Amino acid sequence: MMIANICRPQHSPWDQPMDRCFQIFPCLADPGRRSSLCLKLALVTIHVVYAGVLFLFDGDLIEKTKKEPWYTILYLSLFVLTLIQYFATALSSPGYVRDAMMAVNERNVVYRKEPEASNQPASSRNGSFVVSMEGNQMGRNGSGSNATSWSKLVADLYPIGSTIRTWTCTYCNVEQPPRAKHCHDCDKCVLQFDHHCVWLGNCIGQGNHCQFWWYLCEETALCLWTGVLYITYLTAHITRVWWKDAITILLLITLSICLIFLLLLLLFHSYLILTNQTTYELVRRRRIPYLRSIPERVHPFSKGVCRNLYNFCCARNSFYSLEALPISQEIEEKSRPYTCSDVMTCRCC
Ligand SMILES: [Zn+2]
Ligand SMILES: [Zn+2]
Repeated sequence: MMIANICRPQHSPWDQPMDRCFQIFPCLADPGRRSSLCLKLALVTIHVVYAGVLFLFDGDLIEKTKKEPWYTILYLSLFVLTLIQYFATALSSPGYVRDAMMAVNERNVVYRKEPEASNQPASSRNGSFVVSMEGNQMGRNGSGSNATSWSKLVADLYPIGSTIRTWTCTYCNVEQPPRAKHCHDCDKCVLQFDHHCVWLGNCIGQGNHCQFWWYLCEETALCLWTGVLYITYLTAHITRVWWKDAITILLLITLSICLIFLLLLLLFHSYLILTNQTTYELVRRRRIPYLRSIPERVHPFSKGVCRNLYNFCCARNSFYSLEALPISQEIEEKSRPYTCSDVMTCRCC
């Protein structure tokens, strides 16, 4: 009898309403999705609280809005734009390896049917996305520019002698091109993997790094503007109502910490963009087999500041760019110390 009581499953009073909730919203049954949704909700709430307290406490701001509505309209527009950018980045695709592989394999079917189109880049039948290869190694392993299968395409991106095991993902069983990595949170391989953002509940990769940078930019600007409004309120109303001051000072301190963090993150990602690196490559360089032998100060995928910036800003979401590993001569050229003439001719650009 004792044993039967111990083994009986314990039911919490929340089980029944939770089950009913999961039946109505099946997506909430997944704990990962649930925590991601909670974080999104928390972020929106934080935004609303910071702006709400300001409009609730600051009577001068309401007066200013009546006289000069454009000022508040501009602030609220930035507020809405930041939240839209946040959700757009959270729902965007970071560029999955499997999608690129499907695009190439689909192209392979088209290629077999239409051999005259062999010189065109691999693309889907309706032209919605394209896979292109960059670097001087096209055809390095003898497969040439006509390589249409994913395996051949990936093999061309690695130096001769690499074994297939080094670039096959053990989780998805797909051949990874250079710069791709398996994300354990998304359970997918991501092209140009940067990091998995917990606040966005999404991976940052080739497909959405640009969107992520713009989100950081807008969030920093909004944080800065809100901070200025808080300081303006405090300097005009200090010592009138103590509890209002206490709340405002507390919010201003946390806002300042967020602003410092956002500014550093924005600068860090701007540096990564200018040198064509990812967070993962910078932090885990010694753990990436094909980057181990390359000197620290050499950025193997960099094509110069201007070209890196152009590729980053003008890369479309529907475009998969597969970058080849540089050959030894290119690495030697990049590791050559800077001379006066290099500085004069802007070698880094
Ligand atoms: Zn994988
Ligand atoms: Zn991820």
